[in-house]
Amino acid sequence: MTNQSPETLHPDPASAGERNGRQRARFRVLVSDPLAERGLTPLRTAPDVQVDMRPGLSPEELRAIIPDYHALLVRSGTKVTREIIARGQRLQVIARAGVGVDNIDIQAATQAGIVVVNAPTGNVVAAAEHTIAMLMALARQIPQADRHIRAGQWQRSRFLGVEVRDKLLGIIGFGRIAQEVAQRAQGLGMRVLAYDPYVTQEFAAQRGVELTSLDALLAQADFVTLHVPLTEETRHMIDRERLAQMKPGARLLNVSRGGVVDEEALAAALEEGRLAGAALDVFEQEPLPPESPLRRHPGIILTPHLGGSTVEAQEKVAADVAAQVLDVLQGRPARYAVNAPIIPPKDLEVLVPFVDLAERMGRFLRQLDGQGVDVLEITAHGPLASYDLAHITAAAIKGILAQVVDARVNLVNAVFLANQRGIQVMERKQRHHRERYENMLTLRCIQGSQRRTVRGSVLQGAPRLVAVDELWVEFPAEGNLLLTSHQDRPGIIGRVGTLLGQADINISFMHVGRRTPRGEAIMVLGTDEPITPAILARLEGIPDINWMKAVTL
Ligand code: NAD
Repeated sequence: MTNQSPETLHPDPASAGERNGRQRARFRVLVSDPLAERGLTPLRTAPDVQVDMRPGLSPEELRAIIPDYHALLVRSGTKVTREIIARGQRLQVIARAGVGVDNIDIQAATQAGIVVVNAPTGNVVAAAEHTIAMLMALARQIPQADRHIRAGQWQRSRFLGVEVRDKLLGIIGFGRIAQEVAQRAQGLGMRVLAYDPYVTQEFAAQRGVELTSLDALLAQADFVTLHVPLTEETRHMIDRERLAQMKPGARLLNVSRGGVVDEEALAAALEEGRLAGAALDVFEQEPLPPESPLRRHPGIILTPHLGGSTVEAQEKVAADVAAQVLDVLQGRPARYAVNAPIIPPKDLEVLVPFVDLAERMGRFLRQLDGQGVDVLEITAHGPLASYDLAHITAAAIKGILAQVVDARVNLVNAVFLANQRGIQVMERKQRHHRERYENMLTLRCIQGSQRRTVRGSVLQGAPRLVAVDELWVEFPAEGNLLLTSHQDRPGIIGRVGTLLGQADINISFMHVGRRTPRGEAIMVLGTDEPITPAILARLEGIPDINWMKAVTL
């Protein structure tokens, strides 16, 4: 028996496929890290594909064999360097079974025209279930009770739990994982509130969840759970002040990203007895340093970034990348491409500046509005309308969503990601028009009866915004901007200027647009320094101003 190879004992359809495939396969796929075999079925069964499972290759071995392959599937183990990519002359796609693509040189792959795909949603259910497990563990102090028994004790009165039924769960960030958490919490009889400035009331209501402000959520929730990406806006979003706003005796969960919670402040809030407990799966520094104050407090439950670690999630991520590899090899777009495909060279000169403009316009609207969107309308006016607008549309969506969702947004996945968030995307073309700019782009966000519009153009190679909410006003689409909508009357501009001067903010330009003399007007100021919320609050005190926004592009 021992002399027989495992293959003779258990004929492996995969290896048989490899042998047969070798004669007829059009595409060769290399799997260079251990991947859940079941997830690879779509590739194994595709007629013109040969899959070679070669985990544990040395960098030299990989270098030697990569020229033969059309696709490479990895986890985090294989380092897909620029050199490997350069040698992979036949490579069309590199797939990462999981989320992080730090082990792949994306820039080199993009330059080589190779699509890089990942599997950002494969672990959504796993992360949601882990959150629920943490929630129950917090309510009943399961890890603490377990430690207690192991220490030879049996003091049942020390572990009086609480029920989660009828308790209020406050969810911060209402994306994919949060929606799964909400559904499960509702099944446990919890009431659910969510705070997410980038989704609409309607979207949340369809999932039985009420949207609220962060202040209201923190003040009321018995359990607060975080499901936001780590961005400039969310870093330390739960800090000392926010913790102080939480209902006394509440419990906090973080299965999203370390860095969203100020760990020192959290440890202090527990020490002071303000919170009853916390459960954390992610940390600012991983592995968690031995001296972290989080390790000391018995009310804190810790897991080492296990949110996505289930057998099923491993299979799902393998299946997600296997399907995408097949898509790319068979000429279809991949669902979760990490890098953007290339614009046809003949269209480059015209499109590239407008793609950049569209992203800036998206960012502008996100900051101007900061709300959910039902419909996003992108209109190309003039000769620009005769081009394929896919890149422009994707860039506009990227501008709106990039700081909002966890996934990378690009040409291939932008419309999909927008639709997933309930945003309907509409492209319109107006070849002949009578506007002031030959080539112009209009971006309009519609939410219920509200709409916000921005128009832009590229003038002498530079991105310019040319109208806001139907008021014509032309200004550079870059840097720090302050916008005001006000009634046109003497003195307002002066007062804004004086206040900025007092705050030592230098004005680089000023443009005004108005509907009629003494009517509705808009003013756009460029400033060298960013306008802080405190300065904005002071400016908002000026009478006759309808609204005021600071935007950075
Ligand atoms: P997602 O992109 O679907 O959702 C993120 C949500 O956060 C979006 O709805 C967005 O509108 C919202 N948001 C963005 N900025 C916000 C802000 N300032 N305030 C409130 N809401 C804001 O992401 P997802 O797939 O649900 O993942 C959520 C988080 O979980 C991510 O950080 C992800 O990296 C993490 N994650 C952790 C594990 C783990 O092992 N612990 C596993 C998977 C994902």
